[in-house]
Amino acid sequence: MSHTFEKVAVALSLAFCLLCAADRATAAPRQVCFRMEYRTLPGLQLCATEGDLGHRRACRPPPIGVPTYADLIGHRVELWERDNGEGANDDYIGTWLITGHQTCITFDWESHPAYDESQPDVYVRLPMSVQDLAQAGPVMRAIKEDRTDYGGWWWRGTDSELTWLAANGNCPTGTACWIAPQGTLRPTESVTDDAARALQTLDSGQRALEVFGGAMTLGYPSPPEIRLQVPKNDCDPDGGGACAFSESDVGVSFSRTTWGETITHELGHILQRRQIYVHLNNGGANYGTDGTWTLSSEEMETVATHEGFASYVAAASWYDPEIFPNDARYRSTSADNPSAAPIDTSSCATYGNNSNGHRAEMVMRAFWDLDDSNNEGAVSPATSADTQNWTSLDIATRWGWLDLSSANGGVEEPPPNGRNLWDFVWAPGTPAGANALTHNCIQQNYGY
Ligand SMILES: [Zn+2]
Repeated sequence: MSHTFEKVAVALSLAFCLLCAADRATAAPRQVCFRMEYRTLPGLQLCATEGDLGHRRACRPPPIGVPTYADLIGHRVELWERDNGEGANDDYIGTWLITGHQTCITFDWESHPAYDESQPDVYVRLPMSVQDLAQAGPVMRAIKEDRTDYGGWWWRGTDSELTWLAANGNCPTGTACWIAPQGTLRPTESVTDDAARALQTLDSGQRALEVFGGAMTLGYPSPPEIRLQVPKNDCDPDGGGACAFSESDVGVSFSRTTWGETITHELGHILQRRQIYVHLNNGGANYGTDGTWTLSSEEMETVATHEGFASYVAAASWYDPEIFPNDARYRSTSADNPSAAPIDTSSCATYGNNSNGHRAEMVMRAFWDLDDSNNEGAVSPATSADTQNWTSLDIATRWGWLDLSSANGGVEEPPPNGRNLWDFVWAPGTPAGANALTHNCIQQNYGY
């Protein structure tokens, strides 16, 4: 059956090719449309939901036992042209970003390098990668535990399924060619296999790319892609957790794929590493005594600064500090609200022995306060009200102002306390953002 169909198709396409030159001369756009959504993971948490004030694009945690689906905003999608055989002869048409529940893509066929028949048989592939909608930042692509590509999903169909498209698989001009016109494409119904977990993690991570992607470019017009390994089970000593382990590599353990804030936090590390020169990571500072940290644990300043900044990125990816600056939720031992992290009022002054600058939650609060439009008063002995209101991107890109020196404002100031919030303020050029220090009782007497 199917071979008969293929031969007829070949014969027709040869016949049509007599008219190829004429077709190319009268190029006309093709429009291909489809609907697509993915099934969200049970237990999805630590992400902004619809009821939260200030949420950006909310996550959709499913109620117990109820399948729930969400749109694939910012996921990349490819169109391919189906030819004879098992796929090796198929032609790549292009890549686009999904912007809503329904996607319609327009391309010119007659002028396309893949043009080989008068009406293309178009199908769609979801390659498992995301980007910010403005395409100002890098692509993040999911890879398996063995570091190979997932391959994604495609809806290529069989010969008999070509009726998915109008006119028996052919997409002519002048009409919307619907793939699965009566339905919605869903890549998988699984909520347990690795690919489903990776897809959810990509979707959560797209929030960070959407807000901060423009600061993750390393200065290149086409920034290197970020590889997201799911699962990665050797980040923490206990076999779980998540980590950013180069300027382009993040990994999330299986259990953390349901935590919306995890991948957005790790992308905060990617952002900072790309801003402060690729080769540097944690400045040689060790994490606690067991290799881990919490928002409220006492850490070396460089550790607290890096983790506090990444936590700020995580929260600001899900919540807009400008819309409702004090409602962002974030895993915290003390408060869901970044602006309410408990300040230690015993001293704001002493370098190297200051509990505020040594706790990630206070560094996170400092960045959040710099971003939000609220104007909280000073808590003595802190000297300043929260008077500054930067954009998130201005905050993110200021790390790029640091130079390679080992002085204040340099990225190579010696560990374990060297690279810290102070260097952010004293980056070469004009000191700025001192409110982060003076409002939050962090190294306050060093000049301000
Ligand atoms: Zn971290």
